[in-house]
Amino acid sequence: MLCFIKNNLISNKKLKEKRGQKQYPLKNKMKNSESSEMYLEVMYKLEERNGVIRSVDIAKELGYSKPSVSRAIGLLKTEEYILQEPYGKIVLSKKGRDKAKMIMERHNLLTEFLTKCLKLNANLAEQDACRIEHIVSIETMDAIKKYLETNH
Ligand SMILES: [Zn+2]
Repeated sequence: MLCFIKNNLISNKKLKEKRGQKQYPLKNKMKNSESSEMYLEVMYKLEERNGVIRSVDIAKELGYSKPSVSRAIGLLKTEEYILQEPYGKIVLSKKGRDKAKMIMERHNLLTEFLTKCLKLNANLAEQDACRIEHIVSIETMDAIKKYLETNH
């Protein structure tokens, strides 16, 4: 019996180790999608504000260098989130626009939740919302949405 428990403990531990190893590639993938979401969000905002999306403005908005922005634009293009027309004009594809809208919706709901329910100041709420929006689950987001609808 004891031996069985011991074995069980070991196998549990091994399982955890295995899971731990598996988390590395997952984490990297999440980081990539996190940053592409950030780009899409900024592009959507720039398009609304200026009518055009220029890489200079993206760099300014995110505080990133122009080479990093160019690299990200290349990735977004291969993933078909954006279309780049001649003369460098950037346009969001339907896929990119849908994703950007989803992130903006999360951004607004989370900001509302943090300011109205948790009474955080607007700046902090805005900042934190912009980080949470990329990692929060669909279930939590739905619950927050429902909570706001019924309580405010
Ligand atoms: Zn945001």
